[in-house]
Amino acid sequence: MPCKAYIFLLISFGFCISFFSAQTTFSTPDTLFASVSGLIAPLDIPLVLSGNFGEFRGDHFHTGLDFKTQGQEGFPVLAVANGVVSRVKVSPWGYGQALYLLHDDGSTSVYAHLSRYSSSIQEWLIGRQYSSRSFGIDARPVYSIRFEVGDTIGWSGNSGSSGGPHLHFEIRDENQHPVNPLKWDFKITDTRAPEVGNLVIIPVNSQGLELRNEIFTSSNGDTTEVKSGIIHLCVEAKDRLDGASNVCGIYKMEVTINGISFSSYSIDTLDFAVNKDMNAHSYYPRWSSSRTQIHRFRPLPGDRLPIYDFTSKSKLNISVGELIHVIIKCWDAHGNLTQTSYYLKGSDSVIFDTISGDIPGVSLPATYSTSVKINDGDVSVFWPKNSFYSREIASLHSLDDMTFYIGPDDAPLAKPFTLSVPCELISKSNKCDKWVVERLSKNGTRLGVETCKRSTNRLSFSSRKMGWYHFLQDTIAPRLLPKYSSSPLIKNGNLVFHIEDELSGVSKIEGFIDGEWVLFRWDPKKKTAAYFASDLSHITGISSKVTFKAWDGVLNKSVWTGFVVFP
Ligand SMILES: [Zn+2]
Repeated sequence: MPCKAYIFLLISFGFCISFFSAQTTFSTPDTLFASVSGLIAPLDIPLVLSGNFGEFRGDHFHTGLDFKTQGQEGFPVLAVANGVVSRVKVSPWGYGQALYLLHDDGSTSVYAHLSRYSSSIQEWLIGRQYSSRSFGIDARPVYSIRFEVGDTIGWSGNSGSSGGPHLHFEIRDENQHPVNPLKWDFKITDTRAPEVGNLVIIPVNSQGLELRNEIFTSSNGDTTEVKSGIIHLCVEAKDRLDGASNVCGIYKMEVTINGISFSSYSIDTLDFAVNKDMNAHSYYPRWSSSRTQIHRFRPLPGDRLPIYDFTSKSKLNISVGELIHVIIKCWDAHGNLTQTSYYLKGSDSVIFDTISGDIPGVSLPATYSTSVKINDGDVSVFWPKNSFYSREIASLHSLDDMTFYIGPDDAPLAKPFTLSVPCELISKSNKCDKWVVERLSKNGTRLGVETCKRSTNRLSFSSRKMGWYHFLQDTIAPRLLPKYSSSPLIKNGNLVFHIEDELSGVSKIEGFIDGEWVLFRWDPKKKTAAYFASDLSHITGISSKVTFKAWDGVLNKSVWTGFVVFP
Protein backbone atom coordinates (compact mmCIF):
# COMPACT_ATOMS: atom_id res chain seq x y z
CA MET A 1 0.00 0.00 0.00
CA PRO A 2 1.44 3.33 -0.98
CA CYS A 3 0.27 5.06 2.22
CA LYS A 4 2.25 2.61 4.33
CA ALA A 5 5.30 3.44 2.28
CA TYR A 6 4.52 6.99 3.24
CA ILE A 7 4.39 6.45 6.95
CA PHE A 8 7.86 4.92 6.75
CA LEU A 9 9.07 7.89 4.80
CA LEU A 10 7.64 10.33 7.30
CA ILE A 11 9.42 8.71 10.19
CA SER A 12 12.65 9.06 8.28
CA PHE A 13 12.39 12.80 7.84
CA GLY A 14 10.04 13.65 10.67
CA PHE A 15 12.97 15.01 12.70
CA CYS A 16 13.43 17.98 10.40
CA ILE A 17 9.83 19.12 10.06
CA SER A 18 9.13 19.51 13.76
CA PHE A 19 11.14 22.74 13.89
CA PHE A 20 8.98 24.67 11.46
CA SER A 21 6.09 26.74 12.68
CA ALA A 22 5.10 28.72 9.60
CA GLN A 23 4.17 27.18 6.27
CA THR A 24 6.78 24.83 4.95
CA THR A 25 6.72 23.00 1.66
CA PHE A 26 8.62 19.82 0.93
CA SER A 27 8.95 18.38 -2.50
CA THR A 28 9.72 14.73 -2.94
CA PRO A 29 10.20 12.77 -6.16
CA ASP A 30 6.90 11.71 -7.69
CA THR A 31 7.85 8.04 -7.75
CA LEU A 32 7.47 7.72 -3.96
CA PHE A 33 3.73 7.36 -4.03
CA ALA A 34 3.05 5.99 -7.47
CA SER A 35 4.65 2.64 -6.95
CA VAL A 36 2.12 0.30 -8.55
CA SER A 37 3.01 -0.76 -12.08
CA GLY A 38 1.00 -2.67 -14.62
CA LEU A 39 -1.03 -0.04 -16.46
CA ILE A 40 -0.02 2.15 -19.37
CA ALA A 41 -1.30 5.72 -19.70
CA PRO A 42 -4.58 6.08 -21.66
CA LEU A 43 -3.13 8.82 -23.91
CA ASP A 44 0.13 8.93 -25.85
CA ILE A 45 0.65 12.68 -25.44
CA PRO A 46 2.41 14.63 -22.66
CA LEU A 47 0.24 14.01 -19.60
CA VAL A 48 -1.19 17.12 -17.95
CA LEU A 49 -4.03 16.91 -15.45
CA SER A 50 -6.81 19.46 -15.23
CA GLY A 51 -8.58 17.45 -12.54
CA ASN A 52 -7.57 14.77 -10.05
CA PHE A 53 -9.13 12.15 -7.81
CA GLY A 54 -10.85 13.52 -4.74
CA GLU A 55 -11.16 17.15 -5.75
CA PHE A 56 -14.43 18.87 -4.83
CA ARG A 57 -16.84 19.06 -7.78
CA GLY A 58 -20.39 20.43 -7.66
CA ASP A 59 -21.87 18.15 -5.03
CA HIS A 60 -19.47 15.20 -5.14
CA PHE A 61 -15.83 14.20 -5.14
CA HIS A 62 -14.32 13.82 -8.61
CA THR A 63 -13.83 10.07 -9.07
CA GLY A 64 -11.13 10.03 -11.72
CA LEU A 65 -8.41 11.96 -13.52
CA ASP A 66 -9.06 14.59 -16.19
CA PHE A 67 -6.30 14.53 -18.80
CA LYS A 68 -5.93 17.69 -20.84
CA THR A 69 -5.98 17.13 -24.60
CA GLN A 70 -4.37 20.36 -25.86
CA GLY A 71 -7.77 21.99 -26.41
CA GLN A 72 -8.56 19.48 -29.16
CA GLU A 73 -10.63 16.37 -29.71
CA GLY A 74 -9.55 13.25 -31.56
CA PHE A 75 -6.47 11.87 -29.75
CA PRO A 76 -6.42 8.04 -29.72
CA VAL A 77 -7.50 6.70 -26.31
CA LEU A 78 -5.61 3.55 -25.36
CA ALA A 79 -6.62 0.49 -23.35
CA VAL A 80 -4.51 0.75 -20.16
CA ALA A 81 -4.44 -3.06 -19.84
CA ASN A 82 -5.94 -6.11 -21.58
CA GLY A 83 -9.68 -6.27 -21.09
CA VAL A 84 -13.13 -6.92 -22.44
CA VAL A 85 -15.75 -4.22 -23.04
CA SER A 86 -18.18 -4.49 -20.12
CA ARG A 87 -20.32 -1.41 -20.72
CA VAL A 88 -20.95 1.22 -23.38
CA LYS A 89 -22.87 4.20 -22.10
CA VAL A 90 -24.00 7.09 -24.29
CA SER A 91 -25.82 10.02 -22.74
CA PRO A 92 -26.39 13.64 -23.74
CA TRP A 93 -25.31 14.50 -20.19
CA GLY A 94 -22.74 13.24 -17.66
CA TYR A 95 -19.96 11.10 -19.13
CA GLY A 96 -21.26 11.53 -22.71
CA GLN A 97 -19.84 8.66 -24.77
CA ALA A 98 -18.14 6.37 -22.24
CA LEU A 99 -16.48 2.97 -22.43
CA TYR A 100 -15.90 0.52 -19.54
CA LEU A 101 -13.17 -2.08 -19.89
CA LEU A 102 -13.15 -5.07 -17.50
CA HIS A 103 -9.64 -6.33 -16.78
CA ASP A 104 -8.49 -9.83 -15.90
CA ASP A 105 -7.96 -8.90 -12.21
CA GLY A 106 -11.59 -7.78 -11.81
CA SER A 107 -10.87 -4.06 -11.99
CA THR A 108 -12.50 -1.79 -14.56
CA SER A 109 -11.09 1.21 -16.41
CA VAL A 110 -13.49 3.90 -17.59
CA TYR A 111 -12.93 6.38 -20.45
CA ALA A 112 -15.43 9.23 -20.77
CA HIS A 113 -16.40 12.21 -22.99
CA LEU A 114 -15.18 10.30 -26.08
CA SER A 115 -15.87 11.77 -29.53
CA ARG A 116 -15.98 8.34 -31.18
CA TYR A 117 -15.46 4.67 -30.37
CA SER A 118 -13.23 2.24 -32.25
CA SER A 119 -14.97 0.78 -35.30
CA SER A 120 -15.98 -2.54 -33.70
CA ILE A 121 -17.89 -0.69 -30.97
CA GLN A 122 -19.13 2.11 -33.19
CA GLU A 123 -20.86 -0.37 -35.55
CA TRP A 124 -22.46 -2.27 -32.67
CA LEU A 125 -23.55 0.99 -31.04
CA ILE A 126 -25.26 2.48 -34.10
CA GLY A 127 -27.14 -0.80 -34.63
CA ARG A 128 -28.22 -0.70 -31.03
CA GLN A 129 -29.29 2.97 -31.23
CA TYR A 130 -31.40 2.26 -34.32
CA SER A 131 -32.96 -0.92 -32.90
CA SER A 132 -33.88 0.81 -29.64
CA ARG A 133 -34.69 4.13 -31.39
CA SER A 134 -32.66 6.00 -28.81
CA PHE A 135 -29.49 8.11 -28.82
CA GLY A 136 -28.97 7.29 -25.12
CA ILE A 137 -27.63 3.75 -24.56
CA ASP A 138 -26.45 1.92 -21.46
CA ALA A 139 -25.58 -1.65 -22.40
CA ARG A 140 -22.85 -4.18 -22.90
CA PRO A 141 -22.18 -5.66 -26.33
CA VAL A 142 -23.81 -9.09 -26.69
CA TYR A 143 -20.62 -10.53 -28.15
CA SER A 144 -17.28 -10.06 -26.46
CA ILE A 145 -15.14 -7.19 -27.72
CA ARG A 146 -11.63 -7.54 -26.37
CA PHE A 147 -8.80 -5.02 -26.41
CA GLU A 148 -5.15 -5.69 -25.73
CA VAL A 149 -3.10 -3.16 -23.78
CA GLY A 150 -2.30 -0.16 -26.00
CA ASP A 151 -5.15 -0.78 -28.49
CA THR A 152 -7.19 2.27 -29.47
CA ILE A 153 -10.60 1.97 -27.83
CA GLY A 154 -11.82 5.31 -29.23
CA TRP A 155 -10.90 8.95 -29.61
CA SER A 156 -10.91 11.72 -27.03
CA GLY A 157 -13.68 14.29 -27.19
CA ASN A 158 -15.91 16.69 -25.33
CA SER A 159 -19.20 14.75 -25.17
CA GLY A 160 -21.70 14.90 -22.31
CA SER A 161 -21.31 17.43 -19.49
CA SER A 162 -17.73 18.26 -20.34
CA GLY A 163 -16.49 21.81 -20.02
CA GLY A 164 -13.89 21.47 -22.80
CA PRO A 165 -12.02 18.73 -24.66
CA HIS A 166 -10.40 16.26 -22.22
CA LEU A 167 -10.34 12.60 -21.25
CA HIS A 168 -12.01 11.63 -17.97
CA PHE A 169 -10.36 8.41 -16.81
CA GLU A 170 -11.27 6.16 -13.87
CA ILE A 171 -10.17 2.93 -12.31
CA ARG A 172 -12.73 0.99 -10.30
CA ASP A 173 -12.17 -2.04 -8.11
CA GLU A 174 -14.16 -5.28 -8.40
CA ASN A 175 -16.98 -3.66 -6.34
CA GLN A 176 -17.13 -0.75 -8.79
CA HIS A 177 -15.69 1.61 -6.19
CA PRO A 178 -13.44 4.20 -7.84
CA VAL A 179 -9.83 4.06 -6.67
CA ASN A 180 -7.21 6.77 -6.97
CA PRO A 181 -5.60 6.20 -10.40
CA LEU A 182 -2.48 8.02 -9.23
CA LYS A 183 -1.58 4.83 -7.36
CA TRP A 184 -0.31 3.77 -10.76
CA ASP A 185 2.73 5.46 -12.15
CA PHE A 186 1.58 7.22 -15.31
CA LYS A 187 4.72 9.40 -15.28
CA ILE A 188 2.74 12.55 -14.57
CA THR A 189 5.01 15.42 -13.59
CA ASP A 190 3.98 16.83 -10.23
CA THR A 191 6.49 18.96 -8.37
CA ARG A 192 3.96 21.31 -6.72
CA ALA A 193 3.01 20.70 -3.11
CA PRO A 194 -0.56 21.30 -1.86
CA GLU A 195 -1.57 24.88 -1.11
CA VAL A 196 -2.77 24.95 2.49
CA GLY A 197 -4.40 28.21 3.51
CA ASN A 198 -6.45 29.48 6.40
CA LEU A 199 -7.57 27.47 9.37
CA VAL A 200 -11.32 27.93 9.77
CA ILE A 201 -12.71 28.01 13.31
CA ILE A 202 -16.46 27.44 13.67
CA PRO A 203 -17.99 28.16 17.08
CA VAL A 204 -20.64 25.69 18.29
CA ASN A 205 -23.41 26.77 20.66
CA SER A 206 -24.66 24.93 23.74
CA GLN A 207 -27.29 23.06 21.65
CA GLY A 208 -24.58 21.71 19.36
CA LEU A 209 -25.42 24.06 16.48
CA GLU A 210 -22.62 25.44 14.36
CA LEU A 211 -22.73 29.25 14.29
CA ARG A 212 -21.89 30.40 10.80
CA ASN A 213 -19.78 33.39 11.78
CA GLU A 214 -16.56 31.44 11.46
CA ILE A 215 -13.08 32.93 11.90
CA PHE A 216 -10.34 32.47 9.31
CA THR A 217 -6.76 32.49 10.53
CA SER A 218 -3.53 32.09 8.61
CA SER A 219 -0.38 30.19 9.52
CA ASN A 220 1.70 33.35 10.05
CA GLY A 221 2.72 32.45 13.59
CA ASP A 222 0.25 34.84 15.29
CA THR A 223 -2.13 33.62 18.01
CA THR A 224 -5.83 34.00 17.22
CA GLU A 225 -8.34 34.52 20.02
CA VAL A 226 -11.41 32.31 19.70
CA LYS A 227 -14.55 32.06 21.79
CA SER A 228 -14.10 29.54 24.57
CA GLY A 229 -16.20 26.37 24.35
CA ILE A 230 -16.72 23.75 21.66
CA ILE A 231 -15.23 24.61 18.27
CA HIS A 232 -15.11 22.80 14.95
CA LEU A 233 -11.99 23.16 12.82
CA CYS A 234 -11.43 22.96 9.07
CA VAL A 235 -8.70 24.10 6.71
CA GLU A 236 -8.52 25.48 3.18
CA ALA A 237 -6.45 23.09 1.07
CA LYS A 238 -6.08 22.45 -2.63
CA ASP A 239 -3.46 21.25 -5.07
CA ARG A 240 -2.18 22.16 -8.50
CA LEU A 241 -0.16 20.04 -10.90
CA ASP A 242 2.57 21.04 -13.31
CA GLY A 243 1.56 22.52 -16.64
CA ALA A 244 -1.98 23.59 -15.68
CA SER A 245 -3.55 26.29 -13.56
CA ASN A 246 -6.57 24.14 -12.68
CA VAL A 247 -7.41 23.78 -8.99
CA CYS A 248 -7.19 20.11 -8.00
CA GLY A 249 -7.73 18.26 -4.72
CA ILE A 250 -5.35 17.08 -2.03
CA TYR A 251 -4.71 13.41 -1.29
CA LYS A 252 -3.97 13.07 2.42
CA MET A 253 -4.13 15.15 5.59
CA GLU A 254 -2.94 14.59 9.16
CA VAL A 255 -3.85 16.94 11.99
CA THR A 256 -2.23 17.07 15.40
CA ILE A 257 -3.38 19.30 18.24
CA ASN A 258 -0.85 20.04 20.97
CA GLY A 259 1.22 17.18 19.61
CA ILE A 260 -1.57 14.59 19.78
CA SER A 261 -3.07 13.08 16.66
CA PHE A 262 -6.56 14.58 16.12
CA SER A 263 -7.56 13.27 12.70
CA SER A 264 -6.21 11.87 9.48
CA TYR A 265 -7.73 10.92 6.19
CA SER A 266 -6.66 9.89 2.71
CA ILE A 267 -8.62 9.75 -0.51
CA ASP A 268 -7.65 6.29 -1.78
CA THR A 269 -11.09 4.87 -2.59
CA LEU A 270 -14.50 6.49 -2.95
CA ASP A 271 -17.99 5.03 -3.03
CA PHE A 272 -20.61 6.29 -5.49
CA ALA A 273 -23.39 5.44 -3.00
CA VAL A 274 -22.17 8.11 -0.55
CA ASN A 275 -20.06 10.34 -2.78
CA LYS A 276 -22.40 13.31 -2.29
CA ASP A 277 -21.29 13.36 1.36
CA MET A 278 -18.43 15.46 0.00
CA ASN A 279 -20.82 18.30 0.86
CA ALA A 280 -20.61 17.29 4.52
CA HIS A 281 -16.82 16.88 4.45
CA SER A 282 -16.54 20.38 2.99
CA TYR A 283 -17.37 23.46 4.99
CA TYR A 284 -20.54 23.78 2.93
CA PRO A 285 -21.41 27.44 3.62
CA ARG A 286 -18.17 28.39 1.81
CA TRP A 287 -18.12 25.58 -0.77
CA SER A 288 -21.67 26.39 -1.88
CA SER A 289 -21.10 30.14 -2.09
CA SER A 290 -17.49 30.55 -3.24
CA ARG A 291 -16.25 27.09 -4.29
CA THR A 292 -13.43 27.16 -1.71
CA GLN A 293 -12.18 23.65 -0.86
CA ILE A 294 -12.32 23.67 2.95
CA HIS A 295 -11.81 20.30 4.67
CA ARG A 296 -13.35 19.44 8.00
CA PHE A 297 -11.13 17.64 10.51
CA ARG A 298 -13.89 15.51 12.02
CA PRO A 299 -16.83 14.15 10.00
CA LEU A 300 -20.33 15.42 10.77
CA PRO A 301 -22.67 12.73 12.22
CA GLY A 302 -24.22 11.93 8.82
CA ASP A 303 -20.94 11.81 6.83
CA ARG A 304 -20.44 8.22 5.52
CA LEU A 305 -17.34 8.81 3.36
CA PRO A 306 -14.78 5.98 3.36
CA ILE A 307 -11.82 8.39 3.63
CA TYR A 308 -11.25 8.84 7.37
CA ASP A 309 -8.35 6.82 8.79
CA PHE A 310 -8.58 8.25 12.29
CA THR A 311 -10.65 10.91 14.02
CA SER A 312 -10.53 11.87 17.66
CA LYS A 313 -13.50 10.65 19.67
CA SER A 314 -13.54 13.81 21.77
CA LYS A 315 -14.79 17.20 20.66
CA LEU A 316 -12.43 20.13 20.73
CA ASN A 317 -13.32 22.26 23.75
CA ILE A 318 -11.10 25.28 24.36
CA SER A 319 -11.23 26.98 27.76
CA VAL A 320 -10.49 30.62 28.60
CA GLY A 321 -6.76 31.29 28.38
CA GLU A 322 -5.98 27.87 26.94
CA LEU A 323 -3.49 27.82 24.05
CA ILE A 324 -3.72 25.23 21.37
CA HIS A 325 -1.26 24.51 18.60
CA VAL A 326 -2.60 22.92 15.41
CA ILE A 327 -0.20 21.30 12.96
CA ILE A 328 -1.43 20.16 9.57
CA LYS A 329 0.47 17.94 7.19
CA CYS A 330 -1.02 17.75 3.74
CA TRP A 331 0.16 15.62 0.83
CA ASP A 332 -0.70 15.26 -2.80
CA ALA A 333 -0.74 11.80 -4.37
CA HIS A 334 2.81 12.17 -5.66
CA GLY A 335 4.23 12.66 -2.17
CA ASN A 336 4.67 16.44 -2.16
CA LEU A 337 4.08 17.66 1.39
CA THR A 338 3.06 21.00 2.87
CA GLN A 339 3.08 21.54 6.62
CA THR A 340 1.32 24.43 8.31
CA SER A 341 0.92 25.47 11.91
CA TYR A 342 -1.63 27.64 13.74
CA TYR A 343 -2.02 28.98 17.30
CA LEU A 344 -5.38 29.56 19.00
CA LYS A 345 -6.23 30.96 22.42
CA GLY A 346 -9.56 30.58 24.23
CA SER A 347 -11.24 33.82 25.26
CA ASP A 348 -14.52 34.89 26.87
CA SER A 349 -14.43 38.33 25.25
CA VAL A 350 -15.03 37.09 21.68
CA ILE A 351 -18.71 37.65 20.88
CA PHE A 352 -20.68 35.61 18.39
CA ASP A 353 -24.18 35.97 17.00
CA THR A 354 -26.72 33.37 17.93
CA ILE A 355 -28.98 31.62 15.44
CA SER A 356 -32.19 31.48 17.44
CA GLY A 357 -34.53 34.43 17.13
CA ASP A 358 -33.32 35.43 13.64
CA ILE A 359 -35.26 32.90 11.62
CA PRO A 360 -38.44 34.14 9.93
CA GLY A 361 -41.35 31.78 9.27
CA VAL A 362 -41.82 28.46 11.03
CA SER A 363 -38.77 26.60 12.32
CA LEU A 364 -37.96 23.35 14.09
CA PRO A 365 -34.73 21.80 15.36
CA ALA A 366 -33.38 19.04 13.10
CA THR A 367 -30.84 16.28 13.65
CA TYR A 368 -29.29 13.57 11.48
CA SER A 369 -31.37 10.78 12.94
CA THR A 370 -34.88 12.26 12.87
CA SER A 371 -37.31 13.30 10.14
CA VAL A 372 -38.74 16.82 10.18
CA LYS A 373 -42.08 18.11 8.93
CA ILE A 374 -43.05 21.78 8.98
CA ASN A 375 -46.53 23.03 8.13
CA ASP A 376 -47.26 26.68 7.43
CA GLY A 377 -50.99 26.83 6.75
CA ASP A 378 -51.57 24.52 3.76
CA VAL A 379 -47.91 24.50 2.75
CA SER A 380 -45.66 21.74 4.06
CA VAL A 381 -42.02 20.72 3.85
CA PHE A 382 -40.78 17.26 4.74
CA TRP A 383 -37.19 16.15 5.31
CA PRO A 384 -36.88 12.34 5.65
CA LYS A 385 -34.75 10.80 8.41
CA ASN A 386 -30.99 11.12 7.69
CA SER A 387 -31.43 14.22 5.52
CA PHE A 388 -29.46 16.61 7.69
CA TYR A 389 -25.79 15.80 8.33
CA SER A 390 -25.81 17.46 11.75
CA ARG A 391 -27.92 19.62 14.06
CA GLU A 392 -29.58 22.48 12.21
CA ILE A 393 -32.67 24.67 12.55
CA ALA A 394 -34.99 23.65 9.69
CA SER A 395 -37.34 26.36 8.51
CA LEU A 396 -40.10 27.27 6.08
CA HIS A 397 -40.96 30.87 5.30
CA SER A 398 -43.76 31.75 2.85
CA LEU A 399 -42.69 35.04 1.27
CA ASP A 400 -45.89 35.12 -0.81
CA ASP A 401 -48.25 32.52 -2.31
CA MET A 402 -45.64 31.64 -4.98
CA THR A 403 -42.32 32.09 -3.19
CA PHE A 404 -40.89 30.08 -0.31
CA TYR A 405 -37.68 29.94 1.66
CA ILE A 406 -36.59 26.50 2.89
CA GLY A 407 -33.70 26.74 5.28
CA PRO A 408 -31.00 26.84 6.23
CA ASP A 409 -29.77 27.45 2.68
CA ASP A 410 -26.12 27.05 3.73
CA ALA A 411 -26.52 23.50 5.10
CA PRO A 412 -26.02 20.41 2.89
CA LEU A 413 -28.61 17.64 2.68
CA ALA A 414 -28.01 13.92 2.22
CA LYS A 415 -31.58 13.38 0.96
CA PRO A 416 -33.99 15.72 -0.82
CA PHE A 417 -36.69 17.61 1.03
CA THR A 418 -40.17 17.81 -0.50
CA LEU A 419 -42.26 20.97 -0.50
CA SER A 420 -45.98 20.56 -1.19
CA VAL A 421 -48.60 23.25 -1.85
CA PRO A 422 -52.31 23.11 -2.77
CA CYS A 423 -52.90 23.96 -6.48
CA GLU A 424 -55.43 26.60 -5.65
CA LEU A 425 -52.85 28.52 -3.65
CA ILE A 426 -50.63 29.19 -6.67
CA SER A 427 -53.21 28.95 -9.49
CA LYS A 428 -56.39 30.91 -8.98
CA SER A 429 -58.00 28.89 -11.81
CA ASN A 430 -56.75 25.72 -10.06
CA LYS A 431 -54.71 24.60 -13.09
CA CYS A 432 -52.20 22.06 -11.78
CA ASP A 433 -50.34 21.32 -15.04
CA LYS A 434 -46.93 22.41 -16.30
CA TRP A 435 -45.63 24.00 -13.11
CA VAL A 436 -41.95 24.36 -12.32
CA VAL A 437 -40.02 26.07 -9.55
CA GLU A 438 -37.01 28.26 -10.08
CA ARG A 439 -34.35 28.27 -7.37
CA LEU A 440 -33.25 31.81 -6.66
CA SER A 441 -30.16 33.35 -5.16
CA LYS A 442 -30.47 35.74 -2.25
CA ASN A 443 -30.64 38.64 -4.71
CA GLY A 444 -33.22 36.98 -6.94
CA THR A 445 -31.20 35.60 -9.87
CA ARG A 446 -32.20 32.18 -11.16
CA LEU A 447 -29.87 29.35 -10.15
CA GLY A 448 -31.84 26.42 -11.53
CA VAL A 449 -35.25 25.04 -12.38
CA GLU A 450 -37.01 21.90 -11.07
CA THR A 451 -40.18 20.42 -12.48
CA CYS A 452 -43.13 19.89 -10.15
CA LYS A 453 -45.09 16.71 -9.52
CA ARG A 454 -48.85 16.71 -9.31
CA SER A 455 -50.93 14.45 -7.12
CA THR A 456 -54.70 15.10 -7.03
CA ASN A 457 -54.85 18.82 -6.28
CA ARG A 458 -51.44 19.36 -4.74
CA LEU A 459 -48.14 20.29 -6.37
CA SER A 460 -44.76 19.30 -5.01
CA PHE A 461 -41.08 19.36 -5.84
CA SER A 462 -38.00 17.80 -4.26
CA SER A 463 -34.44 19.05 -4.03
CA ARG A 464 -31.26 18.60 -2.02
CA LYS A 465 -30.58 22.31 -2.21
CA MET A 466 -32.38 24.48 0.29
CA GLY A 467 -32.97 28.19 -0.34
CA TRP A 468 -35.46 30.41 -2.16
CA TYR A 469 -37.96 28.81 -4.58
CA HIS A 470 -40.55 30.49 -6.79
CA PHE A 471 -43.38 28.69 -8.62
CA LEU A 472 -43.84 29.43 -12.36
CA GLN A 473 -45.89 27.90 -15.12
CA ASP A 474 -43.95 26.66 -18.18
CA THR A 475 -46.27 26.79 -21.19
CA ILE A 476 -43.69 27.57 -23.87
CA ALA A 477 -42.44 24.67 -26.00
CA PRO A 478 -38.75 24.37 -26.99
CA ARG A 479 -37.43 26.66 -29.72
CA LEU A 480 -36.48 24.54 -32.68
CA LEU A 481 -34.87 25.50 -36.02
CA PRO A 482 -32.35 24.17 -38.52
CA LYS A 483 -28.86 25.36 -37.60
CA TYR A 484 -27.92 25.87 -41.25
CA SER A 485 -30.83 27.91 -42.49
CA SER A 486 -29.99 28.23 -46.18
CA SER A 487 -31.01 25.43 -48.53
CA PRO A 488 -30.32 22.48 -48.34
CA LEU A 489 -30.04 22.88 -44.49
CA ILE A 490 -26.98 20.63 -44.52
CA LYS A 491 -23.32 21.35 -43.82
CA ASN A 492 -20.44 18.87 -44.10
CA GLY A 493 -23.03 16.18 -44.77
CA ASN A 494 -24.85 16.77 -41.47
CA LEU A 495 -28.37 17.97 -40.80
CA VAL A 496 -28.26 19.91 -37.55
CA PHE A 497 -31.07 21.38 -35.44
CA HIS A 498 -30.69 24.07 -32.84
CA ILE A 499 -32.89 23.41 -29.78
CA GLU A 500 -33.32 25.39 -26.59
CA ASP A 501 -35.86 25.77 -23.85
CA GLU A 502 -35.82 28.44 -21.20
CA LEU A 503 -37.47 27.03 -18.08
CA SER A 504 -37.75 23.27 -17.68
CA GLY A 505 -35.15 22.58 -20.39
CA VAL A 506 -35.16 20.14 -23.30
CA SER A 507 -35.86 16.63 -22.01
CA LYS A 508 -36.24 14.55 -25.17
CA ILE A 509 -35.64 14.79 -28.94
CA GLU A 510 -36.59 12.59 -31.88
CA GLY A 511 -36.09 12.82 -35.67
CA PHE A 512 -37.49 11.04 -38.74
CA ILE A 513 -36.63 10.95 -42.44
CA ASP A 514 -39.54 9.90 -44.66
CA GLY A 515 -41.29 8.50 -41.60
CA GLU A 516 -38.35 6.34 -40.44
CA TRP A 517 -36.65 7.05 -37.08
CA VAL A 518 -33.08 8.26 -37.59
CA LEU A 519 -30.27 8.86 -35.12
CA PHE A 520 -29.77 12.48 -34.04
CA ARG A 521 -26.74 12.95 -31.81
CA TRP A 522 -27.88 15.36 -29.13
CA ASP A 523 -25.46 17.74 -27.41
CA PRO A 524 -27.36 19.88 -24.83
CA LYS A 525 -24.38 22.11 -24.06
CA LYS A 526 -24.09 23.09 -27.74
CA LYS A 527 -27.93 23.12 -27.98
CA THR A 528 -27.68 20.96 -31.11
CA ALA A 529 -28.86 17.61 -32.46
CA ALA A 530 -27.17 16.30 -35.59
CA TYR A 531 -28.02 13.62 -38.13
CA PHE A 532 -24.79 12.41 -39.78
CA ALA A 533 -25.38 11.74 -43.47
CA SER A 534 -22.59 9.14 -43.20
CA ASP A 535 -25.14 6.96 -41.34
CA LEU A 536 -26.83 6.57 -44.79
CA SER A 537 -30.37 6.39 -43.39
CA HIS A 538 -31.63 8.53 -46.28
CA ILE A 539 -31.82 8.45 -50.06
CA THR A 540 -29.63 10.97 -51.88
CA GLY A 541 -30.73 13.27 -54.65
CA ILE A 542 -34.45 13.25 -53.94
CA SER A 543 -36.59 15.38 -51.70
CA SER A 544 -36.97 13.71 -48.27
CA LYS A 545 -39.46 14.71 -45.62
CA VAL A 546 -37.71 15.47 -42.33
CA THR A 547 -39.60 15.66 -39.04
CA PHE A 548 -37.83 16.72 -35.85
CA LYS A 549 -39.50 16.87 -32.43
CA ALA A 550 -38.40 18.18 -29.06
CA TRP A 551 -40.06 18.14 -25.64
CA ASP A 552 -39.31 20.19 -22.55
CA GLY A 553 -39.35 18.99 -18.94
CA VAL A 554 -43.11 19.45 -18.59
CA LEU A 555 -43.78 17.86 -22.02
CA ASN A 556 -44.51 20.97 -24.08
CA LYS A 557 -43.70 19.75 -27.60
CA SER A 558 -42.32 21.42 -30.75
CA VAL A 559 -42.29 19.84 -34.21
CA TRP A 560 -40.35 20.99 -37.30
CA THR A 561 -41.29 19.50 -40.64
CA GLY A 562 -39.68 20.29 -43.99
CA PHE A 563 -38.15 18.81 -47.12
CA VAL A 564 -34.43 18.23 -47.56
CA VAL A 565 -32.49 17.01 -50.58
CA PHE A 566 -29.44 15.10 -49.33
CA PRO A 567 -26.57 15.58 -51.82
ZN1 LIG B 1 -13.57 14.23 -14.94
